[in-house]
Amino acid sequence: MTYQQLKDDENRYVMNTYGRFPVALDHGAGATLWDVAGKKYIDLSSGIGVCSVGYDNPAVVNAITEQAHKLMHTSNLFTTAPMIQTAKTLVTKTGMGKVFFANSGAEANEGAIKLARKYSFDKYGAGRNKIVTLWNSFHGRTVTTLTATGQDKFHNYFFPFTEGFSYAHANDFASVESEIDDTTCAVMMELIQGEGGVLPLDEEFVCAVEALCRERDLLLLIDEVQTGVGRTGSLFCFEQYGIHPDVVTMAKGLGGGVPIGAVMAAQSCCDVLTPGTHATTFGGTPLVCASANAVLSIVANDDFLAEVRAKGEYLKQHILALGADSIQGVRGRGLMLGIIVEEGKHAQFASALLEKGVIALTAGKNAVRLLPPLTISYEEMDEALTIMKEVF
Ligand SMILES: *Cc1c(COP(=O)(O)O)cnc(C)c1O
Repeated sequence: MTYQQLKDDENRYVMNTYGRFPVALDHGAGATLWDVAGKKYIDLSSGIGVCSVGYDNPAVVNAITEQAHKLMHTSNLFTTAPMIQTAKTLVTKTGMGKVFFANSGAEANEGAIKLARKYSFDKYGAGRNKIVTLWNSFHGRTVTTLTATGQDKFHNYFFPFTEGFSYAHANDFASVESEIDDTTCAVMMELIQGEGGVLPLDEEFVCAVEALCRERDLLLLIDEVQTGVGRTGSLFCFEQYGIHPDVVTMAKGLGGGVPIGAVMAAQSCCDVLTPGTHATTFGGTPLVCASANAVLSIVANDDFLAEVRAKGEYLKQHILALGADSIQGVRGRGLMLGIIVEEGKHAQFASALLEKGVIALTAGKNAVRLLPPLTISYEEMDEALTIMKEVF
């Protein structure tokens, strides 16, 4: 089918909830994609940070194929080996306590919010349930995670929203302090605000918030749905900040393309959720965990992570070296980068790049956001840079 035939059927049969690029993708290999007309693209988006080890990665495809033959799903009423392996890898590589598996970032964050509220309820009784998040954050699309998201444009139509959230300014410790009182149970934040514009938090600010959380016995929830699983050049971004979060959520890149999310809790709070208090039918099925295990066997490796940092630096330096007047800077860590352009012009640049065969995203008001597969080759980056030179 042609793009137009597909689009006509899409308009007829699929709810119109996305502003999609005018392309129907067909297949990929590495960090390269082809659309239904055979046009080639260098993909600097990896399906919004999901296809972390590239397209048609043999380790992932083989793991999924083998597991599909054995068992795809059993329900969480049974013990299955792939899930235990995923949890064991995550825990041993981070020093955290235990893992709960979900199916998406929003659902992982819902789990983290429930864990924080129950931790406080168990210890202090009712009424200590408020969670402070940051302005400009993004935590998901469920009614509760929309409320956790500190952007007014998301707080519309779906009233009433979940109670118990308030917002502080990023990199402004006094603002966080002033939102905290005796009814607060947690602080939740991204270390690099992804959707908000690829805005990294200051280390000093993050460490001060961590110290405040310890002092007041508030749980520190770090949303690593976008920054996690190697994206920023360490297995988790929190390692680069030198902090010890109570709860870390992840999703996007964990499964290499299959839907999986996870809530990882420290020893101090990893036994808060008990039978009957939290569950999900699809959470941690053998199929998705087999895929996550293949991803982690590639990514949870010091040499691989050093390579992610090197590629991120290469991309950043070469983008700056284009010397384009339209580029005001590049921010981010590892392979999570934002090219800063004139406010409001980011979508035009993304469209122009797409036209010439580079897929990039946008974020916030002025960032062209790059989240390439972590396995992208230098040849693919060079091809993308040649096109970027023309566009910027
Ligand atoms: C994408 C994202 C989410 C939501 O994840 P979904 O899988 O779309 O529910 C939550 N938090 C952050 C930081 C994200 O980038």
